[in-house]
Amino acid sequence: CGIFAYCSYLVEKDRKYICDVLCNGLARQEYRGYDSAGIGIDGDSPDAPMILFKNVGKVAGLRNQLETGIPTPSPFDEERSVDPNAQKPKTDMTRVFLSQTSMAHTRWATHGVPAPSNCHPHVSDAMTEFSVVHNGIITNYKELKLVLLKRGYAFHTETDTEAVAVLCKYVYDSQPHKRLSFTELIKTVIKELEGSFAFVFKSRHFPDEIVAARRGSPLLIGVKTDRKLKVDFVDVELPQDDRGPGAVGPKLRRSQSRAFLSEDGMPQPIEFFVASDAAAVIEHTRRVLYLEDDDIAHIGEGELHIHRLRRDDGLSSVRAIEHLE
Ligand code: GLU
Repeated sequence: CGIFAYCSYLVEKDRKYICDVLCNGLARQEYRGYDSAGIGIDGDSPDAPMILFKNVGKVAGLRNQLETGIPTPSPFDEERSVDPNAQKPKTDMTRVFLSQTSMAHTRWATHGVPAPSNCHPHVSDAMTEFSVVHNGIITNYKELKLVLLKRGYAFHTETDTEAVAVLCKYVYDSQPHKRLSFTELIKTVIKELEGSFAFVFKSRHFPDEIVAARRGSPLLIGVKTDRKLKVDFVDVELPQDDRGPGAVGPKLRRSQSRAFLSEDGMPQPIEFFVASDAAAVIEHTRRVLYLEDDDIAHIGEGELHIHRLRRDDGLSSVRAIEHLE
């Protein structure tokens, strides 16, 4: 199984290119074993749901599906009173993005049979408010699912992963003032999880941002830019959280470490690749940062920030960028 995500900022790329990057990233991790593959890419507007392509079988089959441009039917189609048998509109593969975030996954099924509905990315709802790709197993997903079902949230797959996507939405919905950053929200979610995981999260509420996290499963980030990078690590202690009464879990203190800024502080063209294995990023860049257990990495506005899940775990959030030979 494997994860691949691609984030580009201020570099014009069309959908065809983005999908090729994602499929190549998955293909280079095929040796890790899998039974199905899927990708999620940006819709035509920030308000549009993410476009999902999912396929049981090889990455080559996913590529064939992408050739047709017709996304996989969604279990939410019925709810949206879309005829599930009607063909979905063809995706315009020539559409160009100046900045975008996208994710891809090869699945080795642990919970739920290999089927299109169980393929990742998994989403929280019809509008894909939150979406996630996951390698690993969430051992307490049944308990989480029960709590969420009681609170009126619906489930459409047999996977443990879907509980994580829905939990994101629950945490988001529970805040009275919607003030949590994407990183803070994912920290809150991860504190509720037991098991092993590598995750990449994407959200309509945080366009052009990605959060990646790991515990027990590998994850690394490749950075590609022509400009010089100033590596600037600062540990910042932020005030006590204010998440309102509905939030899950104990109050937490935030910590943050800023990882990259351009030399002159100006926005710069930059690309990030998140992967389970360095073999998947090497065709793009040799600058790689390996995440450690309980790291939460945030990519947004062309910057990468590394956070620790718990400020008091004694570990610094400073990570070195390695140059792979
Ligand atoms: N437990 C998840 C599932 O069954 C992820 C499996 C994997 O690591 O690919 O969907």
